[in-house]
Amino acid sequence: MRPRDRDLGMDRPITRRDFLQGVGVATAAAMTPSRALADAVASLEAPQRMPASYPPALTGLRGDHVGSFEVAHELAFSGRRDWGAVHEPDEGIYDLVVVGGGVSGLSAAHFFRAQEPAAKVLILENHDDFGGHAKRNEFRSGGSTLIGYGGTQSFENPSQYSGVTQELLRELGIEFERFYSAYDRDFYASRGLGWGVYFDRDRYGVDRVVRMRLLEESGYLPAAPSPLSREEAVAQMPISENARRELLQLFSLRGDRLPDHSIFREPAYLKKISYRDLLTKHLEVREPEVLALYQDVFSGYFGVGIDATPAYSCLMYGLPGLKGTSLGRVDGLLRWWQQRSRDPYIFHFPDGLASVARLLVRRLIPAAAPGSNMEDIVTAPFDYARLDTAGASVRLRLGSTVVRVQHDGDPSTASGVRVTYVRNDRATRVRARRCVMACYNAVIPHLCPELPAEQREALASLVRVPLVYSNVQLRNWRAWQALGIAGVHCPGRYHHHAMLDFPVSLGSYRFAQGPDDPIVVHMSAALTRPNRGLSAREQHRAARYALLEKTFESFEREIRTHLAGLLGAGGFDPARDIQAITVNRWPHGYSYDYNTLFDPDYADDEFPHVRGRKRFGRIGIANSDAGGLAYIDCAIDQAHRAVEDLLA
Ligand SMILES: Cc1cc2nc3c(=O)[nH]c(=O)nc-3n(C[C@H](O)[C@H](O)[C@H](O)COP(=O)(O)OP(=O)(O)OC[C@H]3O[C@@H](n4cnc5c(N)ncnc54)[C@H](O)[C@@H]3O)c2cc1C
Repeated sequence: MRPRDRDLGMDRPITRRDFLQGVGVATAAAMTPSRALADAVASLEAPQRMPASYPPALTGLRGDHVGSFEVAHELAFSGRRDWGAVHEPDEGIYDLVVVGGGVSGLSAAHFFRAQEPAAKVLILENHDDFGGHAKRNEFRSGGSTLIGYGGTQSFENPSQYSGVTQELLRELGIEFERFYSAYDRDFYASRGLGWGVYFDRDRYGVDRVVRMRLLEESGYLPAAPSPLSREEAVAQMPISENARRELLQLFSLRGDRLPDHSIFREPAYLKKISYRDLLTKHLEVREPEVLALYQDVFSGYFGVGIDATPAYSCLMYGLPGLKGTSLGRVDGLLRWWQQRSRDPYIFHFPDGLASVARLLVRRLIPAAAPGSNMEDIVTAPFDYARLDTAGASVRLRLGSTVVRVQHDGDPSTASGVRVTYVRNDRATRVRARRCVMACYNAVIPHLCPELPAEQREALASLVRVPLVYSNVQLRNWRAWQALGIAGVHCPGRYHHHAMLDFPVSLGSYRFAQGPDDPIVVHMSAALTRPNRGLSAREQHRAARYALLEKTFESFEREIRTHLAGLLGAGGFDPARDIQAITVNRWPHGYSYDYNTLFDPDYADDEFPHVRGRKRFGRIGIANSDAGGLAYIDCAIDQAHRAVEDLLA
């Protein structure tokens, strides 16, 4: 029997459920996305028009929140060009205007000022907060604050970062050594909490958590090993006997014993076929229940499931099938991947990498926050009213969507650019000597239609990966302790993963001490469209609108149902134990990563992101899109390159 809304706690006053987050957008969804959303916004007070004094503490629908994207959608979908009378309140001319206040845009401002210390810089950002994906979520619990991350999560393999990125992070005061003591790697293991797989009632007829890891590698969240042998774990799974047999076969599979071993000498072939095809066509997996188990195990990473991820990438990241094969010996890329010294996955601030954005903003605008190091940034009080002060060398203007960037005359000889943005329904123009576009690269052709056609086309192809990071504040985590789990893989559910937060205590911030303390549970979803023969990019495009039109109420019901089924046996009561929910939706999430997807469209000499990022007169192009990788070091490196391009 499905739980009733009351049992789930849907009537509890936990969050700000305004009209726009609920019914309004749902009703509007029957119309075209642009009209619907524009009408909904026009008829109501959107958050962009009600500047929050401290956005990280807002709950409900965050990430690309209502009020942040409508203007850009009107431009992109309806081709709107007329924004009414244009005002020019800022006197004088900026040395640099940056479009986009994510890590790349903030870094561009930093690099520019490093070369021209007296430069006047304006950063325009369409959200009510800075940081782009590097977003901080806060929750209040009694007299204290819980900190979570809404996007950009951790530094991954920072020892491999470029000199430029390492230097910037050092300048900001980040010492990677410090994370070794800040991150308590024994926290969950010492309490006997490990990984599990959650089989839900909707798909499997019963709610059951089986304590095991689906992936051999356990570095993501260090946790206790399963108390069950593989055979015992598989025996507990509510799947058919055939599926159990196949699964055990897959676990013990050695590629060199397969009749088809020759395919492991063909990296090019493994880059072309999907992992699902490898399983079904070459590794004798037939049972849909086995395929379903693995379908989304890595989709939070690749943005698509095993039907659209190359077999090669899945093998590289540890899905079954590589053991005993000769692939590592024959292919340089894989050998490199296996041999390189991998840093532990511990380089995480309590707000993820939002602290990098905060460190950058504090450096650029010292009046916005006190402090001087990576410890005090964690709890530094930010005064958002100080971000955009007349007369300051650097100004950061939130809630401002850029709709036009245009040279004063011919791009090859112009002395400056004019940048028009919409804020509070008013069109405003500023003038600048140079401009860095650090926004999603795919929107640039709409802002700058004078770009050469080939460059516009390349930029437009840089479709991003839609993702959701939901954070749920729980009164305590006794149920997790009772079930012996810190993280779960959830086949078939909207959120494919759920886990207790990373145990990081830094500065004066202390992570939960024991199961009676409140905690943030992190749930992630990649919006895939599996098994319809769609390519990764087609899946991303198809999923984007569905995400924008999904209401907060429907997220909330999904999250409450999910946690009730997952944790019910441990004594969890969603109506009693859930204190707040923040859903960070990212219809434009990761930059498209040609590296792991081996997209044939990205196989020519000059990748689309390289063709797209060429300097155009006084306009430079940054953002992680410009490097074709969804990583913070890429965002920083591309900011540096764009500034160098402009000042060359
Ligand atoms: C859920 C998630 C998890 C991630 N986890 C990690 C991780 O663990 N490690 C890692 O290294 N990377 C991670 N990433 C990748 C992340 O994208 C990069 O690390 C980095 O934060 C990207 O920064 P950026 O400035 O290039 O882009 P963005 O963060 O996208 O910033 C661009 C900004 O420009 C704004 N903008 C767009 N158009 C306009 C306009 N017309 N006018 C004004 N502003 C505009 C956008 O709204 C946005 O705020 C993650 C990404 C996501 C979505």
